[in-house]
Amino acid sequence: MNAKDLEERYMLPVYPRRDIVLVKGKGAKLYDEKGLEYIDLASNVGVSNIGHANEHVARAIYEQYLTLGNCYSIFYNPVRARLAEKLLSLAPGRLKKIFFCNSGAEAVEGAIKFARASTGKTGIIATMRGFHGKTFGALAATWGPEYQKPFAPMLQGFTHVPYNNFMKLKESVNEETAAVILEPVQGEGGVRIGDKDFFQAVRDLCDSEGILLIMDEVQTGFGRTGTLFACEQFVEPDLLCVAKSLAGGIPMGAVLCSEAAHVPVKSHTSTFGGNPLACAAALASLEVVEKEGLVEKARSLGSYLLDGLRAIRSDKIREVRGLGLMIGIELKEKAGPYVQALMEKGIIVLLAGPNVIRLLPPLVIAKEEIDQGLKVLQEVLSGE
Ligand SMILES: *Cc1c(COP(=O)(O)O)cnc(C)c1O
Repeated sequence: MNAKDLEERYMLPVYPRRDIVLVKGKGAKLYDEKGLEYIDLASNVGVSNIGHANEHVARAIYEQYLTLGNCYSIFYNPVRARLAEKLLSLAPGRLKKIFFCNSGAEAVEGAIKFARASTGKTGIIATMRGFHGKTFGALAATWGPEYQKPFAPMLQGFTHVPYNNFMKLKESVNEETAAVILEPVQGEGGVRIGDKDFFQAVRDLCDSEGILLIMDEVQTGFGRTGTLFACEQFVEPDLLCVAKSLAGGIPMGAVLCSEAAHVPVKSHTSTFGGNPLACAAALASLEVVEKEGLVEKARSLGSYLLDGLRAIRSDKIREVRGLGLMIGIELKEKAGPYVQALMEKGIIVLLAGPNVIRLLPPLVIAKEEIDQGLKVLQEVLSGE
């Protein structure tokens, strides 16, 4: 039986599937079992920022596994130590400590717990259309009855306010508010870009009320938006959640914390968190980001792609918006059929809500590959 039939038979059917079997990738290209080539404008939702099959990262993983693959964080380890120092040296100045975990939801989970432990308060303010993952703590912050309803009751203490609406956010603050959690650009929620004045107002409010600001950069991190962390274009958070592309495709997450974080010893730990294998992959991946100038590439190719998309004449497009290489094409109708049509023409894209096509190309993508993507998008969206 082929991969599709086996997965259909054996995997719990929780993923909305696309009907291709991917077997190989290189750079910004993907290949299916029939050998057909695709241009990847999705990066596994922002995991594959450095592209597929990077040799520098592959070597680092191989060497590290042969040296010491696992080392529980009750022991010190030089690779973990170097990564902690490196990430904190790259992150905004108020972030001084790091906690390593294994995924985005786990990073959010950690940040929520750290906010409660540090403030002695329980309330978390999140946003409508916000996405923070699907474990119980993260799920309570995530917006959307379709995600929450099957698993009720939710963790207590969460409220949701409209994104970019400071008055509504301020009204929902009370003496129990521990933290506000925000994405600098809402990814799953439709590629909605944060308003700088809103973020500054929230930062000031948090400072004056003793509330912690959690920024969820699981999707926007590591160059995606044209700066290494998107928060550099907004405000400094007290807790910064990262994951997805952190370790070049190896599962890893982290919470970077300001000095406001006080968490009792043993209260929050992780068996795999900070394992040397993932740390070595992350160090190598950060080297690729630096050596290949991927942050600058995201900025320049992002504006090139945005311009190209805005030049497409189609009465189906409502708006094109983006920051760096994180771009949304909002349609006046359901986007699903277009995602399928694009795939049939060799272009892999994502949805972000019912009406938005989301583009998250690997930051290593070549200009010619973007041009090819634009050509096909033009064909499909203008019905040529
Ligand atoms: C993907 C994502 C998460 C969840 O990450 P997982 O690794 O799937 O748990 C959380 N927040 C944001 C903004 C994300 O894009």
